[in-house]
Amino acid sequence: MKLENIQLSGKKVLLRVDFNVPLDSNFNVTDDSRIGAALPTINYILNQGACLILMSHLGRPEKKLKADGSIDREKFTMKHTVSTLSRLLKKELRFVDDTIGTKVKNAVSDLRAGEILVLENTRFYKEESKGDEAFARELASYGDIYINDAFGAAHREHASTATVARFFDDNSRAFGFLMRAELESAAKLLHNPQKPYVAIIGGAKVSDKILLLDKLVDIVDVLIIGGAMAYTLLKAQGAKIGNSLVENDKLDVASEFLAKAKAKAVKVLLPQDSIIADKFDNSANVKIVSSFEIPDGWMGLDIGPKAAAEFKTEIENSKSILWNGPMGVFEMSNFAAGTMQIADAVAIATQKGAFSLVGGGDSVSALNQSGKSDLVSHVSTGGGATLEYLQGNTLPGVEAIGL
Ligand code: AMP
Repeated sequence: MKLENIQLSGKKVLLRVDFNVPLDSNFNVTDDSRIGAALPTINYILNQGACLILMSHLGRPEKKLKADGSIDREKFTMKHTVSTLSRLLKKELRFVDDTIGTKVKNAVSDLRAGEILVLENTRFYKEESKGDEAFARELASYGDIYINDAFGAAHREHASTATVARFFDDNSRAFGFLMRAELESAAKLLHNPQKPYVAIIGGAKVSDKILLLDKLVDIVDVLIIGGAMAYTLLKAQGAKIGNSLVENDKLDVASEFLAKAKAKAVKVLLPQDSIIADKFDNSANVKIVSSFEIPDGWMGLDIGPKAAAEFKTEIENSKSILWNGPMGVFEMSNFAAGTMQIADAVAIATQKGAFSLVGGGDSVSALNQSGKSDLVSHVSTGGGATLEYLQGNTLPGVEAIGL
């Protein structure tokens, strides 16, 4: 059922959000975009006359236990997010320092229409990541309706993202607006994308992205590969890559992938030239050379101007674009140009009518750095979930509600 078709007035709505935000050492939220992204759903539900029970995870408390083996409640409490949400909504919120149990039950029964109760970090219970039924049933008992707007956690089969949905029928569960926008955007690239479809993949490691590359060769027309991972693929083709970052144990995988792409007639573009540096530092000496002839002692830290021009032409002539991963060490100003030119080309192609989706933490921050975020079709909040979905995998959080 669509959220707009559910009668919400007077109801208690259990809403799973993704408030897994970065915090500084004083536990201040340093980037509130994930909280901001949930506001349309939150405001809509409140305006319909319902009350809200918000649940989310924050960090990985179960992996970062204190020396005595207990959960570090002070570090990972959802309380750190409450003042940010309160500021963005211009509204007082309630918070309960548990996720299930008597305290939560009492707080829920005290809730009135238009009020919000934030539950404690779902991952304070090991049952969360096990997708435990009893834990999910308890969560489900707090709401008449379940809404999932946590796209960033949809690839996890957890109690609050997937199991809990089973305790609601089709008429009382739905995706939130953020989740739906993410799914609709991804669908444009998954089902009959407009051709030519160009995927731009960058970043540090082939090993992190090989599954994605392997799936993409089945659907794209052109695959542009930059970033450090390009050097593993270049070396697999016999290039001398100097001291560039490389995964020597992935050379076979890289060769197999290149052979598969060739057999499928997918055009794979690797950077023909590179900006190389004599150390991993913004103040390093730099040169522009062929990516096949990088001298020892030097490393490729960005794509070169010929590569950037070739990539740009390809992108600007495309109709569908997926971009994940930077072309170089964009965090250092001297090695950011390649990535910025890609951002430029994606914006130009979008202006010419292409559909463009940018996903993954680093590409989103690179896009923000370029000032072009508003000029692409969709900036995904999903990270891992986006990439899994675009590989054609079903996401447990999506399946549990049903498209
Ligand atoms: P990923 O998390 O896999 O998307 O990788 C992103 C990281 O890869 C960023 O921090 C970049 O600085 C880094 N990166 C990109 N290109 C290179 C390169 N040529 N050499 C070293 N690191 C790189």
